[in-house]
Amino acid sequence: MNAAALAALRERLERFHALSKAAEVLHWDMETRMPRPGAASRALQCGAVARAAHEILCAPETRGLVDELGPALSDPGDESEPAALWRWAERETARRARLPAALVEETSRATARAQDVWVEARRRSDFAMFLPELSCVLELKREAARALDDGGDPYDGWLAEFEPGMRAADADRLFAELEPGLAEITARAIARPRRERHPALTGFFAIERQRGLGEAAARLIGFDFSRGLLDESAHPFTSAPALGDVRITTRYDERDPFSNIFTVLHEAGHGLYEQGIDPALADGPLCAGGTMSLHESQSRLWENAIGRGREFWTAFLPRLREAFPSAAGASLDDVLAAVNSARPSLIRVEADELTYGQHVLLRYGLERRLLSGDLRPADLPEAWNAGMRERLGLTPPDDARGVLQDVHWSAGLFGYFPTYLIGNMISIQLYAAALKDRPEIPERLSRGDASPLRGWLRDKVHRHGRRLAAEQVVARACGGPISSRPYLEYLRAKHGA
Ligand SMILES: [Zn+2]
Repeated sequence: MNAAALAALRERLERFHALSKAAEVLHWDMETRMPRPGAASRALQCGAVARAAHEILCAPETRGLVDELGPALSDPGDESEPAALWRWAERETARRARLPAALVEETSRATARAQDVWVEARRRSDFAMFLPELSCVLELKREAARALDDGGDPYDGWLAEFEPGMRAADADRLFAELEPGLAEITARAIARPRRERHPALTGFFAIERQRGLGEAAARLIGFDFSRGLLDESAHPFTSAPALGDVRITTRYDERDPFSNIFTVLHEAGHGLYEQGIDPALADGPLCAGGTMSLHESQSRLWENAIGRGREFWTAFLPRLREAFPSAAGASLDDVLAAVNSARPSLIRVEADELTYGQHVLLRYGLERRLLSGDLRPADLPEAWNAGMRERLGLTPPDDARGVLQDVHWSAGLFGYFPTYLIGNMISIQLYAAALKDRPEIPERLSRGDASPLRGWLRDKVHRHGRRLAAEQVVARACGGPISSRPYLEYLRAKHGA
């Protein structure tokens, strides 16, 4: 192998990675601390950095090095770091070379502007205010989909950004296997008389006290605050500028002590993944969570399989009572009933684990129609509300609690939503496999020790970063391909009775 060519390729990929991470810091700052009048300038800065990163990756010199190294590194069975790096570079240079640099820059600018407007439009529940920005972002993303179209499903180009290796047909197949069963269990849960939350778990929960509680939840599952931090934002997210700098956000609801706790568990689940990557991969493009569905499998595993379970609450209830003595009247079973009640609600990120899938399927269907042109952005609120009625029997009272609730479309993240549901499927497969390998996980967790599960995930998932494909990670950890069946069985066992 030509060592000089590999070193030159590595140098280019690391420069691309550094610029991508610089863009991530600009976004983090924009969504947490930036004064709003900075938004227009920030859009230009984001656009410039995105374009510079794109130009390094798509330069003929980079592709030339990839081609030169092909004979030495293109064996798909080669699991060495150089071969994995080459595979990433081969795929991404080919994919991104189809996107004109001007389109990349304009999309980055447009999404930075749109996110700023979205925050205000959501606050005012004013879809008309957001519509021009949304139309602009959508047109740019449709142009990208056309550029990436390889004759397959037009949605493939959107999905590939978040889920390399998966095609829309794969997502369709997984969802088709899931939907009838999910609809049936959901309908039965809707019909069931709802159990009211214990009065001690309702009322007012001061944000000042919630802050410490969220931090305690993150610490319990092992989020490393010496290499990370927890902040607040309109839409919770995780940002990982570096292996030693992993940031998560949450948001607070003064009427609900659990919303923040589950948000933190979710984001800290993402954070643990980023903190657990093999340091040998630091500062290069393999230093990131494998795919978004793998990433969401980590967040959802901690949020749901762990965070809604008896063992976690055995360990954590004393913390809740300490922060809010008024909650002491609620027993462990009252808390478990409160955090596991399944009933249709308006907001995806606060949905219970049963109805959550319907939120994702609604957005996925709408995205497909927006891409094909069958649905115009102006008609989105109506289509959204019709879908909510059909799937969950609810009509959003306003657009803030409807079509404006998620950051994704303003951020240009079309193609992201399916990964949430696939991530849910993977989370249940992984947790079942972890319990089989490490039966002591529940007992240790009930004593506040999450290290057996965290260690298993680190070994099977986290450390690999992007060295292995998502399918490989799942196949090795779980002994089979990604499947909707275990997830459906889990939901049926928990919510179907
Ligand atoms: Zn997430």
